[in-house]
Amino acid sequence: MTQTVLITGTSSGLGRATAELFQAKGWNVVATMRRPEAETELTRLDNTLVTRLDVEDAGSITSAVRAGLDRFGRLDALVNNAGYGAYGPLEATPMAKIRRQFEVNVFGLLATAQAVLPHFRTQRSGVIVNISSIGGRMAFPLGTLYHGAKFAVEGLSESLAYELGTIGVRVKLVEPGGIRTDFGGRSLDFSNDPEIADYQPAVGKVLGVLGPLTAEGSAPANIAETVFTAVTDGTDQLRYEAGADGIRMLSARRAADDATFLAGVRDQFGLTDVPSAARR
Ligand code: NAP
Repeated sequence: MTQTVLITGTSSGLGRATAELFQAKGWNVVATMRRPEAETELTRLDNTLVTRLDVEDAGSITSAVRAGLDRFGRLDALVNNAGYGAYGPLEATPMAKIRRQFEVNVFGLLATAQAVLPHFRTQRSGVIVNISSIGGRMAFPLGTLYHGAKFAVEGLSESLAYELGTIGVRVKLVEPGGIRTDFGGRSLDFSNDPEIADYQPAVGKVLGVLGPLTAEGSAPANIAETVFTAVTDGTDQLRYEAGADGIRMLSARRAADDATFLAGVRDQFGLTDVPSAARR
């Protein structure tokens, strides 16, 4: 029987590459995005339903799941890919942007999982792949929100894997390093206040690292292969590191204790801790 995957955020980047790969492997694909009316390529693929899903709009999640079931009769996998990076000094970030990062990267992912679960539970099978990041296992400066959200995705997925294992449903995390997508450009939500001079050296450094991390990262199609493996390997493996740079960085993280690793990151970003005024 042909299997069906529903993927969020297929308008670009990893989501699009994942939709193309599953389709090429003979799967039915529910390719969801915020603006399906603008899509011209995925709509031409066989066995592919392009439909609207904005993870901030609960009604659109329900409708997309319903449309997928109506068209293909079943759902076998969900890839929670939609997400973006909110970066910048916390002091310079409006609360609305803080909330939105968690709305999209965390609550939207949970809402989409909730929407497929009654179906997965009834059929006693299904795989949920949550796209995390190396940034869900280690943090860089000025990524309070993005890392906060991806660490949340890691924790919630680990717990959910226990819960859903009891009903035959597997939960997986894919942790890519840099990927050559719109992540560091169009999708980057960077907040800053140039008048707070204290943070500007870090702002410059972080912007200088984020660009190359994505521009020199893996091709989305390579990371999509890992997503496909996570869905289809039939194992209970929870975490899948992806991309040569990401695998290298996670290995370095594991090899160092906290103090050593954090000092290395400070060095890399040219940050020097000053003693607190209270202790001086
Ligand atoms: P991307 O090309 O910018 O794709 C992000 C996708 O998420 C777009 O399709 C975007 O849709 C969608 N999206 C944003 N907000 C949404 C919402 N409210 N509802 C539904 N879709 C929404 O970047 P990408 O690199 O492929 O990102 C995909 C995932 O990979 C993200 O979870 C990201 O955190 C993760 N990741 C990326 C990297 C990297 O270096 N690129 C590394 C590790 C992990 P629109 O076109 O409508 O904006």
